[in-house]
Amino acid sequence: MKKLAEVLRDWEAVIGLEVHTELTTLETKMFCGCKLSHDDEPNANVCPICLGMPGALPVPNEKAIESIVMAGIATNCEVMRRSMFYRKHYFYPDMAKNFQTTQGPVAFVMHGHLDLEVTGTGAAERPDNTIEKADDGSYVAPIRILRIHMEEDAAKMNHLGGAEGRIGGASESLIDYNRCGTPLIELVTEPDLRTPEEARLFMEKLRQTFLALGISDCSMENGSMRCDGNISLRRRGETAFGTKTEMKNINSFKSLHDALEYEICRQAEVLEEGGIVYQETRHWEPSRRRTVVMRVKETADDYRMYPDPDLAPFDLTDEFIERCRSRVGELPDAKRDRYVETWGLKRADAAQLAGEPSVAKRFEEAAALVGEKAVPTVANVMVNLVPGHDDVSAAQVASLAGLLAEDAITFAQAREVLELVEGTDDDPEKVVDERGMRQSNDTDALMAVVDEVLGRCESQVQQYQEGNKKVVGFLVGQCMKASKGTGNPKLFNQLLVERLEG
Ligand code: ADP
Ligand code: MG
Ligand code: ZN
Repeated sequence: MKKLAEVLRDWEAVIGLEVHTELTTLETKMFCGCKLSHDDEPNANVCPICLGMPGALPVPNEKAIESIVMAGIATNCEVMRRSMFYRKHYFYPDMAKNFQTTQGPVAFVMHGHLDLEVTGTGAAERPDNTIEKADDGSYVAPIRILRIHMEEDAAKMNHLGGAEGRIGGASESLIDYNRCGTPLIELVTEPDLRTPEEARLFMEKLRQTFLALGISDCSMENGSMRCDGNISLRRRGETAFGTKTEMKNINSFKSLHDALEYEICRQAEVLEEGGIVYQETRHWEPSRRRTVVMRVKETADDYRMYPDPDLAPFDLTDEFIERCRSRVGELPDAKRDRYVETWGLKRADAAQLAGEPSVAKRFEEAAALVGEKAVPTVANVMVNLVPGHDDVSAAQVASLAGLLAEDAITFAQAREVLELVEGTDDDPEKVVDERGMRQSNDTDALMAVVDEVLGRCESQVQQYQEGNKKVVGFLVGQCMKASKGTGNPKLFNQLLVERLEG
């Protein structure tokens, strides 16, 4: 198969995503009072409503509706004053009542958009000139959101000894209804995405937004956030869409990117050989790096959708909508801009900090503990040292940043100290002092070391004089050794150059 870059020169990829997010931060299910938890014993959290017993009547979870309206406001959607629930019929044991309660043509929130900032190598995936690019190749892609609707999750099935997801292949299947009835919101984009990288960025931005709202733990790993990728190709310059395939339940950012990349290249090969792309559902196999057919597409009519007679239409009041609006806090983009404006952080660093609420919180706590001038160093520590070390407190970050800001330790030493204090209550400053790691910034003392080193490194001095300025690195190393690592290398460098040039 051809490579993605080559394919995208001749073909335009058209991608739309359907993203399911479980509202895991709620306490109870969508239409009953059962506890929301997937960790309990199987079938511990069930009742006549979520088991679909005849005569049981659903009671909508107001908090869930608040969450979806917040999600809509945060993604620039219009809040629909009136919407209702529908029944979507199908037979499968993961939904005992034989229909899923979901929404019809009108969802709680509709017609929004998220703007993606595409930079670096990711931006190069899009070769066309249909979008305006900055000098460095970066661009902003506005992605329209068709709707976000409310539905409920199904039970979890465990097929023993059989093919995953295929009851016929299993000798026996276990059903855990704890997940059945979990409030689920489904966001559907317009087919506005054009590259696997844009799709990945969209998911990432959505995850950050929902995390900031606190409506879900958004774990792709545990399945509380998952997406279907729809993809078709058309020749560059053509306006009509091609036939799409759909890849179901992609559970990581990397899989999303790789599955789309594979599928784009596969479709291009089929089309270039004169074949046709069938509208079908495909499954991404990460280990084999390919997609395989799951089933041909069922039509919407099979579901016999109709308004649920047990659930009256919703008329959202101004008061309710305003309450939801007031609960949408600062979103990642605004947070990023505030970090840049307040502390002059690099935009990419600020975005990284602002994206993850737990990271942003720790950064801001640490920033509050240091002087304003040291905040960029706090950001540096958070972006370049802390990732991978979860058990480090804001106070420890602040202390490390303070040491770095006053040149008391090098970056390499900071990494060492971070590993030492991780998971303890120890103060990095104390650790540095106890271990004699603090670097001297005493110019007179360091100059004595410099003179001693220059005195015995005649050949290097001569090389420098002959124009080999790089030899300073070697001399700094000698000074560090002579001072047993207690001298500040930056200062050594400065003093060496001063002497050599003087
Ligand atoms: P379906 O009825 O097959 O579910 P929808 O029209 O509901 O299809 O769209 C589902 C998703 O597929 C949406 O995200 C939409 O943007 C996307 N989509 C629709 N048509 C195409 C296409 N030709 N190529 C790629 N994606 C598409
Ligand atoms: Mg669909
Ligand atoms: Zn229940």
